[in-house]
Amino acid sequence: MYRSFPDSTEPVPPSQTLRPSALVPEGHASDPFACPCCANVFKETLRLAEVDLARHAKELRRDPLGLAPSLLISNARIMTMNPDAPHADSLLIQDGKIAWIGEAAQKPKLAEDVEAIDFEGQFVMPGFVEPHMHLPPLALLDSFENVGPFRFETITEAIDHLKAVADATPDGQWVVGRQFDPSLQEGPDALTRAMLDEASTEHPVFVYNASLHLAYCNSKALEIAGITAQTEVPAGSEIVKDADGEPNGVLKAGPAMALVARHNPHLHNQNMAEACLEVFHRANRVGITTLCDQGTGLFQGARELELYGALRESNRMTARFRYSLGNAIAKQWDRTEIAWGHGDEWVRVTGWKIVSDGSNQGRTGLQRDPFLNSKEKGIAYIETEELEQAVEQRLREGWAICVHANGDAAIDRVLDAYERADRLGLDPGGRRSRIEHCSILHDEHIERMKALRISPSFLIGHVYYWGNAFVEDLFGPEKAAKLDRTGACEEAGIRWTLHSDDPVTEMGPLRCIENAVTRTRWRSDALLSPEECVPVEAALRAATLDSAWQCHSDHEVGSLEKGKYADFVILDADPRSVEPTSINEIQVLGTWVNGECVYDSNSESPGRKP
Ligand SMILES: [Zn+2]
Ligand SMILES: [Zn+2]
Repeated sequence: MYRSFPDSTEPVPPSQTLRPSALVPEGHASDPFACPCCANVFKETLRLAEVDLARHAKELRRDPLGLAPSLLISNARIMTMNPDAPHADSLLIQDGKIAWIGEAAQKPKLAEDVEAIDFEGQFVMPGFVEPHMHLPPLALLDSFENVGPFRFETITEAIDHLKAVADATPDGQWVVGRQFDPSLQEGPDALTRAMLDEASTEHPVFVYNASLHLAYCNSKALEIAGITAQTEVPAGSEIVKDADGEPNGVLKAGPAMALVARHNPHLHNQNMAEACLEVFHRANRVGITTLCDQGTGLFQGARELELYGALRESNRMTARFRYSLGNAIAKQWDRTEIAWGHGDEWVRVTGWKIVSDGSNQGRTGLQRDPFLNSKEKGIAYIETEELEQAVEQRLREGWAICVHANGDAAIDRVLDAYERADRLGLDPGGRRSRIEHCSILHDEHIERMKALRISPSFLIGHVYYWGNAFVEDLFGPEKAAKLDRTGACEEAGIRWTLHSDDPVTEMGPLRCIENAVTRTRWRSDALLSPEECVPVEAALRAATLDSAWQCHSDHEVGSLEKGKYADFVILDADPRSVEPTSINEIQVLGTWVNGECVYDSNSESPGRKP
């Protein structure tokens, strides 16, 4: 299934290949809020630290393939998401699949070796499908301490936390933080070496800004890296100096950050493939059973497939994995044999991902009109002609297309490209082609999407986390009301989904569902365009069956029905029966994949293969 790709022994290509196109100006080479497709800081860091993903893939421990026992689950309150049979109380699992589902009174005659489990009236629904996240960058980021605004409101608290972490860290080891965001956290605009020296003078301390554009380090980290006033500054980056001309601990852009970060031995020592398995465990804890990477190859080139192959062959996956190939390294993919649908029910390629603009909150989303109090209209990350050609060529090759488009002018261009392909008879809608984020939608966009059967996936955390910024800083209330129009798409009969874009926001399907149902805003009493609120049933469908459909996996997951895999979650409440503003407080009690418990809230470690 996985070949050794011709370029797999080549050195990791230089960082410029991560720029989606020559249209991205140098300063935007890693757009803070777009997909982390462009997070070249990690690519640069891994390259300088000589991290070899192929070696990591080879070293991943394999477990023997276990045979799951046949199980009869009874006395459950099952919401199936199958419109033909929406409720059931019992479920028979054989070989990881649902052999029968229904009411106990109708259950078939069972073989003697079937184990029976009484679910004692617990609520069960299909496992959640996360249709857009970024696995390899997340595998790296997850090993760092989150000191961001959704955890610490003030910078003082964040530093106190780093100090506590440092105190508990063995001598000599690094303390690395992430998600620091002075725009959302109270305190100074930057973390200087003096501030981080308060966390520790013994341990090197290194903190990534949430944008990944900047990093901050303490004196020890600068000392280990040998950074002084005389250090030559790598092109396109900056080592910020204080009034005396000494480095103040602030590093700007990937090359300068990598000068320090690469001295962290953790980068050599941690196995990225193991770290990917940890990401799956984290997904299980919030009820996710299938997730989809939207930008494969943009981090470490085509060799990322070796990582995926190793995951598959380890027999240790606790979630199913889908992925889209990043168009920015199209030439590398063209040298391989990969084609749409390669893989199996555990790991499969299902899309071709194109990035067409930046992000709205980063002011790089491509707009019809300038941003508020600005002349800027954002940035096209791909020429119109190149976009149209890529859409046409990849549809001809059988791919489903996923285009990242945030601004309204970006969405104009994507729909033009899809319409052009449609006129050529390539049926992008029939291929389940998507618009990723699809943030600012005018009514005519929705009409065109409906006509073409193009489906959007919304980064609904925009509404919650950045709702205030959209209204007050970026667009004003009228245009901000056109953000993430779940309600209008639902009304138009368009299939839509919700995603986290983790690490942009954390994976959390129940949080996403609550955001779509309530349209609340973080640190505000106001709702953002309440007319776009959707019924909870619609959001549940978006997070299960429709996400599975977008990921070309609805024939095997997304609902609980005979023949599909037994991938489900146990929740402590039915989301349809709680206050909409409490949906995110529902606890995930258990997560099952392939008929096995992979997360049990009662046991400390995930249930499968401890
Ligand atoms: Zn994106
Ligand atoms: Zn993304």
